[in-house]
Amino acid sequence: APEAPKEAWGLVTRSTGSWYTVRTDDGEDVQARIRGKFRLEAETIDETNPLAVGDRVRILLLEDETGMVQEIAPRENQLSRRAAGHRARSEHVIVTNLDRAWCVQATFQPKLNPGFVDRFMVAAEASHIPAGLVLNKADLLEGEPRAQEALEFWAELYESLGYPVLFTSAETGEGVDAFRDALEGKVSVVSGPSGAGKSSLLNAVDPELDLVVGEVSEKTNKGRHTTTFATLFQVAGGWVADTPGIREFGIWGMTPEELGGYFVEFRPFLDDCRYPNCTHDHEPGCAIQDAVDAEHITPERYGSYLQMLESVRADARSDQEAD
Ligand code: GDP
Ligand code: ZN
Repeated sequence: APEAPKEAWGLVTRSTGSWYTVRTDDGEDVQARIRGKFRLEAETIDETNPLAVGDRVRILLLEDETGMVQEIAPRENQLSRRAAGHRARSEHVIVTNLDRAWCVQATFQPKLNPGFVDRFMVAAEASHIPAGLVLNKADLLEGEPRAQEALEFWAELYESLGYPVLFTSAETGEGVDAFRDALEGKVSVVSGPSGAGKSSLLNAVDPELDLVVGEVSEKTNKGRHTTTFATLFQVAGGWVADTPGIREFGIWGMTPEELGGYFVEFRPFLDDCRYPNCTHDHEPGCAIQDAVDAEHITPERYGSYLQMLESVRADARSDQEAD
């Protein structure tokens, strides 16, 4: 009798748009293609590419040792970027099924940018991706009590919102074990401004990685111009996407009315605004403005909200003009 066809489930770790590297559950790397059927259905998932890194797929193992994708598991979430030169709803999926997106900020050099962090958290909420904050270069706080206090304020704020916060130092090793534990067995995005120490920190987590310091951000910058495809690389028994900069975490395509729902601490109050489409900046009877006055919402977060609201409004206007 002919042998039953060999199949395997695995994780897509690399994509070129035509070939995909699939790490099977047995630990083999198989180069796989997708059948035309999926391409035809692609429109419902992504305009150009039905598969992205992070996808779980079932492949048929062919005689030439390549694979053919038979099935794509439903996605938990996906990180997309706006397709260049297209309108708001046109997007490329970069990475899927993320367990967590880590925003890496340095204490100094460059110093923590709360507006950036809030944008990141909002984009993660909108994409249904659990987020967290890494405050790297903790060693630079030594002998800087005021900066230390300021950083602790931010750490407590984000922690109170439900985002895990880790103080780390690639220099002294502080918090490196905790970060390693957080990455182990998970698929993560590690994102943040250039120079925050992403490469150094990942090297500290997994010395076998040997990333060139500066490499992560460099790759991201290159990626922005040449390719929409991310790669998952293995870090201490987990997978980390070598993407993206904060710009990839779009808040594009959002309506001004929905933005407030992505600020987690706004949620309990949203139903109490007088107007259901309240944008919480000028309307009478706004429960969010009341919650700011009552100090249930910090002025810092509300300030970030107002800034983002402006950019969402500007985006919405330019999309209308494009129509
Ligand atoms: P990336 O651009 O986010 O990948 O940042 P890099 O890993 O390239 O680091 C940028 C610079 O910050 C390098 O000069 C690193 O040596 C330095 N750096 C990274 N992590 C730390 C840290 O925890 N403490 C200190 N003092 N410097 C660090
Ligand atoms: Zn309101």
